[in-house]
Amino acid sequence: MSSTAASTTPPFVKSERLRRLPPYLFAEIDRKKKAALAEGRDIINLGVGDPDRPTPKVIVESLQRHVENPAFHQYALDQGAPELRQTIAAFFERRYGVALDPNREILPLIGSKEGLAHFPLAVLNPGEIALVPDPCYPVYRSASQFAGADVYTMPLWPSNGFLPDLDAIPADVYHRARLMFLNYPNNPTAALADLGFYEKVVARARQYGFVVAGDAAYNEVWFDQPAPSLLQVPGAREVAVEFHSLSKTFNMTGWRVGFAVGHPDMIAALAQVKANTDSGIFTAIQFAAITALEQFDDLVPPIRALYKDRRDQFLARLASYGLTVSTPQATFYVWIPCPEGQDSTSFCGQLLDQANVVTTPGVGFGKAGEGYVRAALTVETSRLLEAADRIGQLLRSQ
Ligand SMILES: *Cc1c(COP(=O)(O)O)cnc(C)c1O
Repeated sequence: MSSTAASTTPPFVKSERLRRLPPYLFAEIDRKKKAALAEGRDIINLGVGDPDRPTPKVIVESLQRHVENPAFHQYALDQGAPELRQTIAAFFERRYGVALDPNREILPLIGSKEGLAHFPLAVLNPGEIALVPDPCYPVYRSASQFAGADVYTMPLWPSNGFLPDLDAIPADVYHRARLMFLNYPNNPTAALADLGFYEKVVARARQYGFVVAGDAAYNEVWFDQPAPSLLQVPGAREVAVEFHSLSKTFNMTGWRVGFAVGHPDMIAALAQVKANTDSGIFTAIQFAAITALEQFDDLVPPIRALYKDRRDQFLARLASYGLTVSTPQATFYVWIPCPEGQDSTSFCGQLLDQANVVTTPGVGFGKAGEGYVRAALTVETSRLLEAADRIGQLLRSQ
């Protein structure tokens, strides 16, 4: 019986939209990493962009208190708790000097990834163009494709400070463009954008009538000079939405909380997609997020100082082997050029096979990421120094 059923049941074929996604380029490195761990090798994993330290205790305790509240056990409000929206408004005004209407210009999210992934559905029609940086966080591209848009790639070259060259985009592309994704401080290159760049972007957006989606997931992870907000540019609020996250800022990646700020109609459109998709963020988590944002000034500087110290020690150790890498101004990533004649996949493979260090090949973030590997400063300093020694010794032996 079952064999008859099996022979007549057509095999499952996943949707065209999934089959059209670019191939998953980390599969080979994932396989090697698993094999290495199974062999019991002493692997140092600089591959994942996920803070290693726990969430600050006050935030955990806030959740513990709020989880006891039976009112929070029911569905959360789609637009987020008013208390959280007010706290975000107060935070944004303190941090960026930008006053936002908590009822119209702020939308809490189940992590910024959720908002970034849903935003194209709120903005783009099939056949319109999404301008997407390369290298980039892969969600911008896949979410734009899911919305039926054509993706136009904006390469980020070191010669331009890893900013897209706005003059290199043809006028006919600008005319068909409906959305531009940007991400500064940038994952994976660790580059920072200044307000002057954002002013140029906003001017183009107003000229051609496209929407700007700024991914500000690392806006609070900076070292010497604070990262600006796109919304600090006059007129930006007419064309832009910016996505913020508590994940990297407060070591809260597992909690799933972030927020979008910007143009009220765009915020409302995103809220409409979400109303048809999810049912809000667990309210106890929203109240823990309030605690986090209220204690920002106490909690965040030590987290920044930790990454800055790791960055300095890691780079100094690499430099002692003659490997000089440009100093990241923000994020917890180091964007390391591959040795002459090696591509990112082979260098990554070699670092794993011969140095037991996991990094991420730049090409996994896009073609323009070729020639680099990304190392995350998300392990303790002693391990980072050990990783730098292993990398340095490997390169010296070649
Ligand atoms: C980590 C990360 C995110 C996602 O953050 P969540 O708020 O946890 O969803 C978004 N963008 C970039 C570039 C990231 O690295």
